[in-house]
Amino acid sequence: MKISKLFAIILISLFTLNVAAQQKKYVMVIHGGAGTILKKNMTPEKEAAYIAVLTKALQAGYAQIKKGKTSLDAVEATIHVLEDDPHFNAGKGAVFTHEGKNEMDAAIMDGKTLMAGAVAGVTTIKNPISAARAVMEKSEHVMMVGAGADQFAKEAGLEIVDPKYFWTQERWDGLQQAIKEDSTKAVLDHGSKKSDLLGIKNHDYKFGTVGCVALDQAGNLAAGTSTGGMTNKKYGRVGDAPIIGAGTYCNNETAGISCTGWGEFYIRNVVAKTISDLMEYKSLSVVEASKIALDKVGKMGGDGGLIALDRKGNIAMPFNTEGMYRGAITVDGKIEVSIYK
Ligand code: ASP
Repeated sequence: MKISKLFAIILISLFTLNVAAQQKKYVMVIHGGAGTILKKNMTPEKEAAYIAVLTKALQAGYAQIKKGKTSLDAVEATIHVLEDDPHFNAGKGAVFTHEGKNEMDAAIMDGKTLMAGAVAGVTTIKNPISAARAVMEKSEHVMMVGAGADQFAKEAGLEIVDPKYFWTQERWDGLQQAIKEDSTKAVLDHGSKKSDLLGIKNHDYKFGTVGCVALDQAGNLAAGTSTGGMTNKKYGRVGDAPIIGAGTYCNNETAGISCTGWGEFYIRNVVAKTISDLMEYKSLSVVEASKIALDKVGKMGGDGGLIALDRKGNIAMPFNTEGMYRGAITVDGKIEVSIYK
C-alpha cells in the first residue's frame, strides 16, 4: 500500500473516532424538579446532598440496564431512590395540599408497547411509581385515583404506609409560607391575572417533582414521573405528571419524556405527546421538539422544564426557570449532574 493511501486511511479513522466520541450516547436521563433554584440560596451541604442523591438515583437505574433488565425496571429503581429521599417532591418529601395532606400522582409508560399506568391523589403508597406500574401490568386500566388506587396498590402487595410517613418539616413550612403569600396576593392584587392571584409562580418550595427516562440494552425506552403536586393545591387537584401525554409519555419510535413545573400549563399544552408528535410527524430532533413544546408553555405564562431521551441515546433537558435538578448517564457509565442554568 502506498504511503499516501495509508495516511488517508489513518486520517479517516481518526476523524470517525472523533465524531463517535462527540456523539455521546445516553441511556438514562433524570430530573428532580425545576424552580427558583439559585446558587446564592443554596448551602454547600445542601448542594452536595442533592448531587449525591441524583448520582445515587442514576447509579441505581444504570445497574438495572447493565444487568440486562428492562427500561421499566431502570425507571422504577431510579425513581424509588428519589421518592425515598426527602429532598424531592415525591414520596417522602411530597408537598402538602391546602388541607395539610400529601396527595401524590405518578405515571409510567412503556415505549415498546405503548402500555401505560398512572395513579393520582394517593395517600398511603410508599412508592407511587410502583403503583403506576402495577396499574399498567396488573389491571386492564390506565389510571386509578384516590382511595381506589390506594386499595389496588395494597392488593397488589405494594408497601403501604401511614400517611404520617410523608410529613416533613420543610414541606410543612413551605405550606405555611404558600398560604400566607397566596392570601396576601389575593387581597392585594384584585386586578391581576388568575396566575398572579394564585401566587404559584417562581417558588421552588412549590415544585420538585421527579422523573426518569431510560433506554435498555434491547433498545426499548420507558418514562416515569412521580410527584406530590404543587404546594397549597386544592383537595383533589391532579397535575400533569400522571396524565399520559401531558407530563409523561414514551414511544420507541420517538422518545420518552417526563415533565416538571406548573402542571396546569403542561396539561393544556399536552406537552409530552406534542414532543413525540413533532418528532414523528415533522421529523424534528428531540432537542428541537422539546424546545418548541417548552416555549409554548413559557409563552402562556407557565414555568418548568422537562427531560427527553430518544432511542438513539440523544437527550434534551430544557427548562425556563432559574434551575432544574437534572442528570444523565452515558452508555459507558459517565454521570453528569447539574442544578443551575
Ligand atoms: N408538575 C407538577 C404538578 O403540577 C409539579 C412539579 O413538577 O413540581 O403537579
